[in-house]
Amino acid sequence: MNCRTLQRRLQVETENLSPDARAHLAECPECTAHRGLARDLGTLLAREEAAPLADALLLRVETQARVALDGAQLPRIFRREVVLALGLAALALPLALAQGWFWLQTLFLTLEAWLPLPLLAGISVAYVASVGLSLGFLYASLPFAVAYSRRIQAEAS
Ligand SMILES: [Zn+2]
Repeated sequence: MNCRTLQRRLQVETENLSPDARAHLAECPECTAHRGLARDLGTLLAREEAAPLADALLLRVETQARVALDGAQLPRIFRREVVLALGLAALALPLALAQGWFWLQTLFLTLEAWLPLPLLAGISVAYVASVGLSLGFLYASLPFAVAYSRRIQAEAS
């Protein structure tokens, strides 16, 4: 169960929760705070007369709203899933560099005798640039791929 799903459920029901919702609450301070807030609001709404908000409750609502807004504005590139995906993808980088080095070595060893050096250098530069661009686009697309999968996941739940 993720935080978003549970917090939506808590807005309707704070007491009769499923076992996995309880398990999540036991280890997530953010959802526990959300539950407390939902309970307080429920208590407040259950009263007969319209009471003015207690200062402490008002302060808590403001603080939680600010935290939620700050969290929403956090650049997606610093989210944990993106860092994890980039870290895993970076493991392939030494392999790509070794492969590039191997191909350039082979190119020079086999064609050095027949082709002029500027042409070989030009081919090498084009090769390195195209591989660099491909890898750059691949790594730059990871945050978007993660964001897309999160959105699909959120819509499915
Ligand atoms: Zn949570």
